[in-house]
Amino acid sequence: MLLNKTPQIAGFAGTITAWQKQHGRHHLPWQDTRDPYRIWLSEIMLQQTQVATVIGYYQRFLSRFPDIASLAAASQDEVMPYWAGLGYYARARNLHRCAQVICADWGGRFPGNADDIATLPGIGRSTAAAIAAFAYGERGPIMDGNVKRVFTRYFGIEGITSERATEQALWRTAEAVLDAAPDSLDMVAYTQGLMDLGSQCCTRSRPDCLLCPLQDRCYARAHGRQHELPTPRKKKASPERHCRMLVAHCGGHILLEQQASPGIWGGLWSLPLYDSDEDVQHACRRLGAGPAAQKMAGLLHVFTHFKLHIEPWYMRCDEAPLTETSPAQRWIALADLPATALPAPVKKILAGLFPAPD
Ligand code: SF4
Repeated sequence: MLLNKTPQIAGFAGTITAWQKQHGRHHLPWQDTRDPYRIWLSEIMLQQTQVATVIGYYQRFLSRFPDIASLAAASQDEVMPYWAGLGYYARARNLHRCAQVICADWGGRFPGNADDIATLPGIGRSTAAAIAAFAYGERGPIMDGNVKRVFTRYFGIEGITSERATEQALWRTAEAVLDAAPDSLDMVAYTQGLMDLGSQCCTRSRPDCLLCPLQDRCYARAHGRQHELPTPRKKKASPERHCRMLVAHCGGHILLEQQASPGIWGGLWSLPLYDSDEDVQHACRRLGAGPAAQKMAGLLHVFTHFKLHIEPWYMRCDEAPLTETSPAQRWIALADLPATALPAPVKKILAGLFPAPD
C-alpha cells in the first residue's frame, strides 16, 4: 500500500533524469563505456561496496582481465588477488564462473538483454536491468538498496524491504513509474539518477531533503518519517566467534592455507585457523618448530552476520622445515604476499609483522 496519496507518477522518471543530468555523477570510470563486460564488473563490485573503494579495484582488475575471454581463461587463483580486500568473495567466484558460462554458452558475447543476463550466475533482476540499461539503453526497472530507500520514502511504502510483499510492492511501483514515463526517456540517465539520488541526497542516516528534486511530494519528508523508512529490521545481536591464526614464519616464508569454497573466504589464502591454544601448539610441533608460538595482540573483524575475534600466534624458526600439515597449505615467500589473495584481517596481521619497504 502506498501511503503517499499524491505521488508524482507520470513525471517521476523525468524529474530524476533531469536532476541526474545536472547534479548526478558523470565521471566514474565505468560511465564512459557501453561495454557490457565493464559495466557488469562495476555493478558487481558496487554491490555492498562504496564507489571510492571500488575505483582502484575496478581499474586493477581491468588492466589484468580486459575482457570476458581473459577472465574466463584465468584460474580462480589468478582472479582472487584482484578481489582480495573487497569482501563478499562469492561475487568474485560468480564473476569468474559467469565469464566461463558466457564463453561456453554465448559464444563469448555478453547476452544482449536483461532477461538473458539474469540467467547468468550471481546476477539478479535489478543488476541485469542496470547492465542492460547502461549497455543497451534497455527500458526496465532497477531495485537496489539505494533505490529501495528512495521509493519507500517518497511513495510511503512500509514493511521490511527484503520481505516478499514489500519487495513486490516496490517492483510494482517501479514498473508503474516506467509505464507512465514517455517513450523518449533516457534510460541511462534515469537509472544512474536513481542510484545517484540514493547515494547523494536520500542517504541512509542524513537525507538531504532540501537538495532533493522529489522534496515537494515526498511522503517521508512531509511526515517527518525519513528515519522510519525503509522500515528497519529488528536487530538481532550479532553472534561472536573466536579463532586462532598461526603466523608460521620460516626461512622468509609464511604458511598459508587456501579456504574451501563456498565459505566466507572461499578461494582466499588465510593463515591456518585453529579452535584452541592446544591446537596451535600441536600444529607447531607438527611443523617441526623448536620454540613455542607466542600470542600476539588480538583483533576483531566484523562481518555482516557475525563478529570474529582473532587471536594471532607467531612462530619463527630459522631452519625452514617447509612441511605442511594439510594438502590445502602452502609456504609462500614474503616477496609473493602482495600478489596473494589474502582476507583483510590476514593482510593486516602480516602488514604489521612485515611492513612493506619504503
Ligand atoms: S525528500 Fe528527502 S526523504 Fe524524500 S526522497 Fe528526497 S531525500 Fe529522500
